[in-house]
Amino acid sequence: MPSLTFLGAAGTVTGSKHLLDFDGHRVLIDCGLFQGLKELRERNWHPLPVPASSIEAVILTHAHLDHCGYLPRLVVQGFRGRVFCTPGTRDLCSLVLPDSANLQEEQARDANKHQYTKHKPALPLYTSEDAARALALLQPVGYNRPVPVAPGVEAEFLDAGHLLGSAYARVKLASGKTVLFGGDLGRYNRPVLHDPSPVEAADLLLVESTYGNRTHIADDNGQRLAAIVNDTAQRGGKLIIPSFAIGRVEEVLFWLKLLEDGKRIPMLPVYIDSPMAGRALQFYANRVNELEMAVPPGARGVGMFATGRMTTVASVQQSKDLVASRQPAIVIASSGMATGGRVLHHLEAVLPSPKNTVLFVGYQSEGTRGRQLVDGASLVRLKGREISVGARIEKLDSMSAHADAGEILRWLSGFKQPPAMTYLVHGEKAALETLRDRISTEMHWPAHIAGHEERVEI
Ligand SMILES: [Zn+2]
Repeated sequence: MPSLTFLGAAGTVTGSKHLLDFDGHRVLIDCGLFQGLKELRERNWHPLPVPASSIEAVILTHAHLDHCGYLPRLVVQGFRGRVFCTPGTRDLCSLVLPDSANLQEEQARDANKHQYTKHKPALPLYTSEDAARALALLQPVGYNRPVPVAPGVEAEFLDAGHLLGSAYARVKLASGKTVLFGGDLGRYNRPVLHDPSPVEAADLLLVESTYGNRTHIADDNGQRLAAIVNDTAQRGGKLIIPSFAIGRVEEVLFWLKLLEDGKRIPMLPVYIDSPMAGRALQFYANRVNELEMAVPPGARGVGMFATGRMTTVASVQQSKDLVASRQPAIVIASSGMATGGRVLHHLEAVLPSPKNTVLFVGYQSEGTRGRQLVDGASLVRLKGREISVGARIEKLDSMSAHADAGEILRWLSGFKQPPAMTYLVHGEKAALETLRDRISTEMHWPAHIAGHEERVEI
C-alpha cells in the first residue's frame, strides 16, 4: 500500500521531511534540518528509519534550511539519487548549504577547542565537501512542468510565493492519486513575491501551520516601520534588524526604500552585514521575471533594492568597525532568530543601551534567542556572557513570509473539492490545534495533525 511517513516538521516547525513510499520506490519530499530546541537538534544525528541509499529521489519545496539543510547529511548516509527543485531554489541552496556546512564545522571546532562536548572529538553534522556533493545532485525544473522523479511518481512545482524559487510540490502517483506537499505558504498582496498559486484539487494535502493561530497585523503601508526608524533615529541609536540572509532582506529594503522615497524617514546609512544576503539579492535581481516587483526606472541588478545610502558589508574587519561605530544606522544582519551569525556581535554591542532598537521581522522558534527577546527577556546569554537588555525590542509580523491563519484558509477555499485528508505540519502545538479546528468547523474538511514518524496510507 502506498504510504507517507512524517519524518520531520510534525508537531514542530523545523526538520521538514516526508517520505513517500510507492510500489517499493521511495521519494523524500523536503530534507530539512531540525533547529531550535536542543532535543530537536539532536534528531539531526539520529539515523532515518530507512537507509538513505534506498531513497531514489528528493524533492525540495524551497531553500530555507528547515526544508533543505539535511541534504548533505543524507548524502553522508549514502543517498545518491537526484534532487529536484526549481532553478531559484538551486541558486539559493548554493548559498545556504555551504554556509550551513561552515557553521557545523565551526561549531565542532569550537566545541573541541573549549572542550564543551561529551563527544571526543566533536564532529560536524556534515562538512563543506558533503555540501558540495549535495549541490551536485540538484536537478532544476521550472514551475508548472511535471517531471518523472521515480517509477510511477511524477512531480510538478507550483509557485508558493514564500521565497525566491519556493514551490508546492504536486506529486501524482501512477495509482491516480495526487498528493500536494504545501511546503511553506506565502502571502497575498506582498510587494516582492507573487501571491501563492491557487490549487483546485488534491487527494491528500499537507499544509503548514506556522501561524495557524495568528492573524498578522494588517499592512499599514510601512507606518509602524517608519515610526520605529524615526524613534530610533531621534534617540541617536542604531536599528538592528536580524534577518534570514535569504528571503527577508529584499522585503525590508523594499519598505525602507519606499519610506525614504516618500521622505517619511531620514536617509540613514543602511548596512547589509551579510555577504550571503548580498549574493541572495543578486539572485533575486537575476530572476526579476519571477517577482511581483517592478524594476525602478534606471535601476540595474541589485540596485533595484538599494536605499539611498546602502552598503553591503563584505569583510570581517568592516563588520567589526560597524559593530564598534556609535553612528545612527540601520543594520540588517543574519541570522534571523539571533542563533548565530554576525548579528550576535551587533546585539552584544547594542542590547544594553535604551538608545537602540532591535526589530525582528520573521518567525522566532521556541528555544531561540530571538524568541527570548520578543518574549521580553531582560537578560540574554551571548557568547558565554549575560547581556542585559536595555534596547527596545520590536517585531513586525506584517513582514512575515508565512501566511497567517486567514491567508491559509483563503488558499484552502480555492479548492473545488476538499482533499480526502488534510495533514497539518510545520507548526507548534497551539497553532496546529487551532488551525485543525478551524478547518473542521469552517471548511468542514477532515484534518489531522501529523505525528512524528507517523505513517499513513495514500
Ligand atoms: Zn520557509
